[in-house]
Amino acid sequence: MRQSILALNAGSSSIKFALYEFASSEELQLVSRGALDLGDAPKFSAKAADGTLQYDRQLSTNGQHDAGIGEMLNWVERELGGRKLICAGHRIVHGGSEFVEPVRLTTATIDAVDKLTPLAPLHQPRSLAPIRAIAALRPDLPQVGCFDTAFHQTIDPVVRRFALPRRYEQEGLHRYGFHGISYEYVAERLEQISPALMSKRTIVAHLGNGASLCALREGKSIDTTMGFSALDGLVMGTRCGAIDPGVLLYFLLEKGIAADELQTMLYEKSGLLGVSGISGDMRTLEASSDGRAREAIELFAFRAAREAAALANTMGGFECLVFTAGIGERSSSIRKAICNKLAWLGVGLDEPSNDAHAGIISSPDSKIEVRVIATDEEIVVARHSRVMM
Ligand code: ADP
Repeated sequence: MRQSILALNAGSSSIKFALYEFASSEELQLVSRGALDLGDAPKFSAKAADGTLQYDRQLSTNGQHDAGIGEMLNWVERELGGRKLICAGHRIVHGGSEFVEPVRLTTATIDAVDKLTPLAPLHQPRSLAPIRAIAALRPDLPQVGCFDTAFHQTIDPVVRRFALPRRYEQEGLHRYGFHGISYEYVAERLEQISPALMSKRTIVAHLGNGASLCALREGKSIDTTMGFSALDGLVMGTRCGAIDPGVLLYFLLEKGIAADELQTMLYEKSGLLGVSGISGDMRTLEASSDGRAREAIELFAFRAAREAAALANTMGGFECLVFTAGIGERSSSIRKAICNKLAWLGVGLDEPSNDAHAGIISSPDSKIEVRVIATDEEIVVARHSRVMM
């Protein structure tokens, strides 16, 4: 009998899913992918592997996970035909120091993952909600968790460390790094494209609503821009990225802003949204003629290039630059702005290839090969989940 795996990727307002099938030693085959949108107008939509719309329905769940997940599971089970759903795999944002490999999700491991919520106060509950919903709705369906932090285990202690009193490091106050599942996918793709490519020193720019860079050497993470939390590093849709800690002290001590209000400001009201005052969505900003939108975009590109140069320094140089995720895959103007700022490091862009979103967008004489690779976090989750079964 053919078997099936459901991979779930919970984000801020939607849960992306992908359903795969396989028989014995076969590679996973995509059956459907789609999303459960839990925003103001909840809906569930799914497309077949060839892009044909299979399902698109408004939900009357008021953004409740259990009802939405229930609808998704019912649909998946109807679509299974003769296949057997053997597990649900999940992308989980924070694995702390404990979870450095995928794990079977049991009551005990779910509780342990929940204990990491203070390290990712907004993201960890979003990761846990569909896990708990499935545990309640289908208690017999095995679940596997894959951690975004796990890929960054290879980062050297000197890169990981904060210059704080040492006892805090033992408490787990160090840089973890995120988007690891996406970086793992890109590293695998580079190896598939050419083993020689994977051996190059590569900077991967995962530019989505959340955004970070990763320095890859031999396919392993050497440095990354996110740190202890998913706030660090680049300017993001609504997150501030790296900021002088003195600013936070100023807000707390001088402005008397409450800690939870500050948290909301840094995670949800800053970044592209905060600077533009218009939107945290890059497409909206690119379409706007408002000068504030332009300033937000300029800051986004400036900071990405600045951090890329810092990662190049960690690796002692680089030979390959990869753009991925929503903005990285689709915004030729952001790629151009970042590449132009890195021209002094040998990045040369081929504008027609960039405008066409080609696989290789560097010019023939560029010292750095620049690529666009569409990320696929769900297949990484599904592959790990299969191994855990
Ligand atoms: P998430 O981190 O939620 O998975 P995505 O990787 O889907 O996010 O990226 C979302 C971002 O990509 C948004 O800022 C969106 O505006 C941007 N984006 C998507 N398509 C385009 C496009 N064609 N041009 C510019 N930006 C785009």
